[in-house]
Amino acid sequence: MTKNKETKPLGRRDLLKGAAVGGVAAAASTAFPAPAISQGTMEWRMVTTWPKNFPGLGTGAELLAQMIGQMSDGRLNITVYGGGEIVPAFESIDAVGSGTVEMGHGAPYYWKGKVPATQFLASIPFGLTAQEQNAWFQFAGGQELADEAYSELNCKFFPSGNTGVQMGGWFNKEINSLEDYKGLKMRIPGLGGEVVAAAGATVVNLPGGEIPPALAQGTLDATEWVGPYNDLAFGLYQNAQYYYYPGWHEPAIVLDNFINLDAWNDLTPDLQAIIMAANTAVNQMVLSEFTARNNDSLQVLLDDHGVDVRPFPDDVLIGLGGLAKTVVAEIAAQDPLSTKVYDRIRAFREKALNWMTFSEQAYLRARALGPSWS
Ligand code: CA
Repeated sequence: MTKNKETKPLGRRDLLKGAAVGGVAAAASTAFPAPAISQGTMEWRMVTTWPKNFPGLGTGAELLAQMIGQMSDGRLNITVYGGGEIVPAFESIDAVGSGTVEMGHGAPYYWKGKVPATQFLASIPFGLTAQEQNAWFQFAGGQELADEAYSELNCKFFPSGNTGVQMGGWFNKEINSLEDYKGLKMRIPGLGGEVVAAAGATVVNLPGGEIPPALAQGTLDATEWVGPYNDLAFGLYQNAQYYYYPGWHEPAIVLDNFINLDAWNDLTPDLQAIIMAANTAVNQMVLSEFTARNNDSLQVLLDDHGVDVRPFPDDVLIGLGGLAKTVVAEIAAQDPLSTKVYDRIRAFREKALNWMTFSEQAYLRARALGPSWS
């Protein structure tokens, strides 16, 4: 595809599309108006890594498409496809980068095999919260660094949803000390998996659908998934004794909207602004949905299913935190872009640790000291 950054004519991609059907349009122009072309209507396809309308994640992608269509008054229409409908879920980034489709929705760590730095953009064990991640992307250079990483995939990046703090996971063995991770068979992907492997666990990677039977049969001793909303829907409480918290391994997973870089550069500035604004809104709305649904689902797990919810002991968290620092730093040191991204997040985390001590953390403690309002 050719680039034409300097002129950015109105509806350039439509002109290209128009050129493809130009013969027909020209022949028919006297008999029929060509509203789609004259009004600059574009039809884009969005591939996703999620099953169609998967709660919180797939629904976020749908919301993004809807908002862009409405905000552009139909000038940019986006049709959403579930994982596997056009390409396999984890090939979504290739489909977008190569221009097979224009847009995708997933999570940055799915692309770590192609650009390792992307995994640090998704989440880091004992790393940033959702609030801190958004601050980093919007006001501390994170967007620019993410764009640098995604440009290697020929994509433009936007944060496009966030799960917030996840749960530690479902266990059939008690975790009383770091020693209890030795030999533990646990499904836990990504950097968190590297940390528990360093603690002596056997990390198993299974697709979501295989988790419940593996827990039931004892093939797994433990698994993490997301949080109360998705875990309840999955019925994980049926096959596990303990539900540990917090999700130190995934304090906030960023979802990504990735756009073919040529298609992005060809957009008029108003459509670029609409896509940015829609992503900013969806980023917040997905997080809000997780917060609201997790509130309700936790209550159901406790009241209706009698789930045994337990905190990880402090000694375990201290031990895992120490391992995480070493393990994550080693992985970040393996390529220059990962080092750069990790160093910038690390510097931001240090400042956030200070401010949050006096703000969110202090307030949450203060609120918990008082009576419930029930
Ligand atoms: Ca998870």
